Amino acid sequence: MGEFDLIARYFTRKPARAALGVGDDCALLQPRPGTQLAISSDMLVEGRHFLSTVNPAFLGHKALAVNLSDLAACGAEPLAFTLALSLPQADPAWLEPFSRGLLALADTHGCELVGGDTTRGPLNICITVFGEVPVVGGRSQALLRSGARAGDDIYVSGSLGDARLALEVFRGKLSVPEAVFAQARVRMEQPTPRVALGLALRGVASAAVDVSDGLLGDLGHVLKASGVGARIDTALAITLMATRAEALASAGGFSEQHGLAFVLAGGDDYELVFTAAPSARDAVAAASRAAQTTVTRIGQVEAEAGLRMVDAQGAVLDKSYASFDHFA
Ligand code: ADP
Ligand code: MG
Repeated sequence: MGEFDLIARYFTRKPARAALGVGDDCALLQPRPGTQLAISSDMLVEGRHFLSTVNPAFLGHKALAVNLSDLAACGAEPLAFTLALSLPQADPAWLEPFSRGLLALADTHGCELVGGDTTRGPLNICITVFGEVPVVGGRSQALLRSGARAGDDIYVSGSLGDARLALEVFRGKLSVPEAVFAQARVRMEQPTPRVALGLALRGVASAAVDVSDGLLGDLGHVLKASGVGARIDTALAITLMATRAEALASAGGFSEQHGLAFVLAGGDDYELVFTAAPSARDAVAAASRAAQTTVTRIGQVEAEAGLRMVDAQGAVLDKSYASFDHFA
């Protein structure tokens, strides 16, 4: 199978909203009047972002999911994406499930594949997504990292820490019952981008970011961009880990300390962390219901720079939890 057969067979579909899709030198997108284009790229490298043994359908899903998560964090509506793919060989047994997983998630979000590039090389997947954000009265409705204000509440969607639990089990560092692993593994291999929540939070959240590297690190970006600090209640944060209670009960080397470290710095969860004024609590609850996505309030933005973690008694913890940094 040649390069062009490969593209035609696995990555070409009739465009729906795009003015022009795969097949010419450029794709053409037509954003609706009164909108801005939101653009983001994410690259997945074998051995770095995924295990070589992963199911290709899950990999296709995840490659797009991590990009949709960036659109969600900006409150952007998915429009289209491009796929730059480096492959060691044109293997239908890999390409078929990969494109199936990828395009199934694309269909769920009405996000069309409009172009890309295909080359031989080590397995490497780079996606660029395009989304739309309305401009109302000359003001972009995009959620930014820079909008958090002292006194705002801090929220996290869904659950955190389970993807990291699965990774540690894969690495042989922990052992948990099969059912706990299965649940955690879905979080690691098939993350759910919180697109509907991001849209519902437009005009409600003051700032947002998605959690890819770990809660503390990603929240840290918001605090820095906003020129503020924060206090996180660890007793609330720990409730974010869906598999914690069962993992603790199984006593396969998993402790409460692991749970907290996974929640605060685990990474790979693709949840949204966002801030909103206390006066917006009802609006946040309404956004959560509309998006059918749980949100948990875990702390407060403060004027004083830095991140302080307090336990249930309000005592400040001094332990540091580093988040993932590729070059640290
Ligand atoms: P060019 O050399 O002009 O950049 P290519 O020959 O690389 O174009 O690609 C031919 C067409 O196929 C282009 O429209 C390109 O966007 C598209 N394409 C290439 N690889 C992919 C891919 N992996 N997924 C989707 N479209 C692709
Ligand atoms: Mg090319």
